Amino acid sequence: MKHVTFKPVIGIVSPCYNEEQVLDETEKQLRNLIFDLVDRELISDKSFIVFIDDGSKDGTWDVIEKKAIKSVVVKGLKLAGNVGHQNALLAGLLTYNGDADALISIDADLQDDVRIIEEMIQKYKSGVDVVYGVRKERPTDTFFKRNSALLFYFLIKKMKSNMIPNHADYRLCSNRVITALSDFNEVNLFLRGIIPLIGFNKEIIYYDRLERLAGNSKFPFRKMLSFAWNGITSFSTVPLKLVSAIGFVIFIVCLFMSGYAFLAIFTGDTVPGWLSTVLPMYFLGGIQLFSIGIIGEYIGKIYAEVKQRPRYIIDKKID
Ligand code: UDP
Ligand code: MG
Repeated sequence: MKHVTFKPVIGIVSPCYNEEQVLDETEKQLRNLIFDLVDRELISDKSFIVFIDDGSKDGTWDVIEKKAIKSVVVKGLKLAGNVGHQNALLAGLLTYNGDADALISIDADLQDDVRIIEEMIQKYKSGVDVVYGVRKERPTDTFFKRNSALLFYFLIKKMKSNMIPNHADYRLCSNRVITALSDFNEVNLFLRGIIPLIGFNKEIIYYDRLERLAGNSKFPFRKMLSFAWNGITSFSTVPLKLVSAIGFVIFIVCLFMSGYAFLAIFTGDTVPGWLSTVLPMYFLGGIQLFSIGIIGEYIGKIYAEVKQRPRYIIDKKID
């Protein structure tokens, strides 16, 4: 257990993609928070905030650059192109792990309540390595997003993943957790699944998810679906097993059907049989395509992993 008077260096890591509209306010709030915690001697005065520009097309980097030059606590990291939220976050975590005792990841739109950061730090100081921020309810999300998330976490749970339901990437990780994370080389990154795999002691803090401050969600339906699918297929082979299970059941059913058809020859009770011929054909064709599709998804994943391309490329760094 760490000493209570221990003043850790805390880094807040925030990936930004086209967020020029909110950055001003986000930076102000986080900066005030850091100053307040430093003033109250809860954290070291070397604590910082780092904004990662994930290849934004708007003026996000200009805003970050200005803030980083003006304020001692703000740092900026510019990636060479858009690599997506997960990889951008990873870039921030791996680049700044050496500069802090613990890193807190948070979205740039302030949907995650910054008021629980102090509690996260308290928990860390009492010896907890991973502190998960979990949304209490999702009243500000659309009906669709709320329910699709519900379904997603239900499926994930059924597949025996130890992912924390309703935890987005708002969390504190200690230095050694991120060092362990750097050994996970997968290209199809799904941090919510990897962090629980790493282990160490954890705690959960519940908070209310707020409305996005400004700008639009960068996760339209298509992106959300592919993110969820990636989460499932990166951590579970249950879909593959499901396919073989479906195949087996159909095989048994077909066995009975052919037995019945064979008997019908002797009883003279033959059916005209159009439906019974055509229907199974379509049915099996469908199942087969579905199965091949799922297997293909995994092969695609293997392909991406085998190439071992870098997950992000750093363009500029302002400290
Ligand atoms: N983001 C990113 N790269 C992307 C898409 C999003 O860094 O390609 C960032 C975005 O700027 C925000 C966070 O990821 O800080 C979460 O995105 P968003 O708020 O749009 O997602 P939502 O809250 O709607 O699920
Ligand atoms: Mg958001």
